[in-house]
Amino acid sequence: MKRRVGPDGMHLFDRRTGLNVLFDEADVPEEQWARAPRQVSIALTNACDLACPFCYAPKTAAVLDAARLCAWIDELDAEGCLGVGFGGGEPTLYRRLPQVCRHVAERTDLAVTMTTHAHRFTPQLIEALAGTVNFVRVSVDGVGTTYEKLRNRSFAVLVQRLAQIGEAFRFGINCVVNDSTLADLDRVADLAASTGAAELLLLAERPGRGHPGSSRPHVTAALHQWIASYHGPVALTIGEGDTGSLLTAQPLPGEMELRAYAHIDAAGTLRRTSYHAAGEPVDDRGIIAALSRLQQKGVA
Ligand code: SF4
Repeated sequence: MKRRVGPDGMHLFDRRTGLNVLFDEADVPEEQWARAPRQVSIALTNACDLACPFCYAPKTAAVLDAARLCAWIDELDAEGCLGVGFGGGEPTLYRRLPQVCRHVAERTDLAVTMTTHAHRFTPQLIEALAGTVNFVRVSVDGVGTTYEKLRNRSFAVLVQRLAQIGEAFRFGINCVVNDSTLADLDRVADLAASTGAAELLLLAERPGRGHPGSSRPHVTAALHQWIASYHGPVALTIGEGDTGSLLTAQPLPGEMELRAYAHIDAAGTLRRTSYHAAGEPVDDRGIIAALSRLQQKGVA
C-alpha cells in the first residue's frame, strides 16, 4: 500500500482494490506532510473525436510530451501523490497512452484512472492497457436516444464496450446532469448496476462555450432530490461544489483544495481544477515548484 502523511494523519492506499485506510490518530509534523496533491488529473491531449454540446475541454490543439509527462509522474509519486487521472479531450487518442500507463504501473506506486467516452476501447487497446489502469471512468449521460443525441454514437455499442471494459478493469460511470439528462437518471443508475459499475459520479453541467450549464436551480434541486431518494446498489459520488445541503462524506477535512487535487491541462499548465482560469506553467523546475507559485498567487 502507498503511504501518504498530511494534516489528517497517515493515509494508506491500495491502488489495486481502491482500499483507503486512515490512521487519524497519527500526528505528523507539518514538515513531513506530502507536498503533492492527493490526486492530480492530467489532460493528455485536447483532441477528441466526439462533439458533445456541453463539452468544456479547450479546443486549441495541445498534447503533452510523453517524456515530460513521465518525469512529472515520477515527481508526483515521490512527493506523496496517490493517483493520476488521465483525461482530455479523449485520452485514448493519446498515441503513447499504453507506454505512459505502463511507466506508472512499473516505476511508481500511483494509481491510474482514466475518463473516456469508451468508444475506442477495442479488444486490442484493452489488452495494451490491462494491468496498468486501476479504474476507468466512462462518460454516459443518458440511455438510448438521449445518449445517441448527445454523443452521436450508438448506445448499443457503448453497452458492449462497458461489458468489455468491465472484464478487464474496475470501472465507474460519469453522468453529466442537465435538462436533457435529468429524466434518464434512473435508467443510468440501472445501467451502472447491470454492467457492474463500482461508482456513479453525478456532475451537474457547468457553464461552457455558449451553453448555460445546469447551475439553474431547478436542475440542482431535482438532482439533489433524486440522490436523496436513491436506494440502488451502486455507490454515488458527486462533483465538488455540487453538494449543496446534501450529507456527504469528507474523510480528509484537512486536505482541501490544492492539498487534495490539482489539474494539469494539455498545454502543461497547472490549475486548481480544469474549471479554474488561473494557472502556472509546469517548467523544468517541476510540478511542486509550479504548485508553490500557484499557492502564492492565492489560488488555494
Ligand atoms: S467526449 Fe468528452 S472531451 Fe470529447 S467532446 Fe465529449 S465531453 Fe468533450
